[in-house]
Amino acid sequence: MSHGGEKFQVIIAGAGIAGAAMALFLSRLDIHLTILENRTCRPNTAEGGMIMFGPNGMNVLHGLGLSRKLLQRETGIQVSHITIRDGSGDLIGQVPQGSVECHGSASTALLRWDIHEVLLDALEERRIDLRWSSRVESTEELDSGIIVRWSEAGEVKEKKADLLIGADGIWSTTRPRYLSL
Ligand SMILES: Cc1cc2nc3c(=O)[nH]c(=O)nc-3n(C[C@H](O)[C@H](O)[C@H](O)COP(=O)(O)OP(=O)(O)OC[C@H]3O[C@@H](n4cnc5c(N)ncnc54)[C@H](O)[C@@H]3O)c2cc1C
Repeated sequence: MSHGGEKFQVIIAGAGIAGAAMALFLSRLDIHLTILENRTCRPNTAEGGMIMFGPNGMNVLHGLGLSRKLLQRETGIQVSHITIRDGSGDLIGQVPQGSVECHGSASTALLRWDIHEVLLDALEERRIDLRWSSRVESTEELDSGIIVRWSEAGEVKEKKADLLIGADGIWSTTRPRYLSL
């Protein structure tokens, strides 16, 4: 994918779960991809607790070729129903959580850390340009794209991109500039 002979430039702010998954999908295209991540390095301790991925989330991971890797980790538990009981242990009801037969994948309870680690491993394997200690500070929209300014290990840098993806989490710096959240 190119224009004027140059590759389409995409910058992703944030290498969390959304940014990493997005980068892996986009890396299938012939584009130039940069991820700017505020953290100084890969998290090296288990962060977060359990996350339940519904069948649609597992289908996305399957699309990335990563669902089998995740299920091989100790924490991948497939959940067919959630059972709700009252204080004395009597059954109130069961909520089905989808199934391979109907939805392509089963709901799966995983550690957030496992998901993040598998995604970061895949980014490394695909040699995607991920810059740690890089915090997006400001952006400037142009008719022909966007200028992204960030601080990288104490230095201020900027780059013109065709597209900026704001995957910088709940306290996003990028999205409030364009959306009234
Ligand atoms: C440490 C942690 C533990 C969690 N644990 C659970 C859990 O146990 N169960 C559950 O259901 N949900 C949990 N959550 C919430 C769930 O994981 C989030 O909903 C999910 O991570 C959202 O993914 P995201 O990629 O949108 O954002 P995040 O995972 O928050 O990723 C955003 C990334 O953007 C980076 N960033 C932020 N600002 C900038 C900037 N200006 N420039 C560059 N990079 C930036 C951050 O460092 C971060 O790496 C947790 C979230 C976190 C952060």
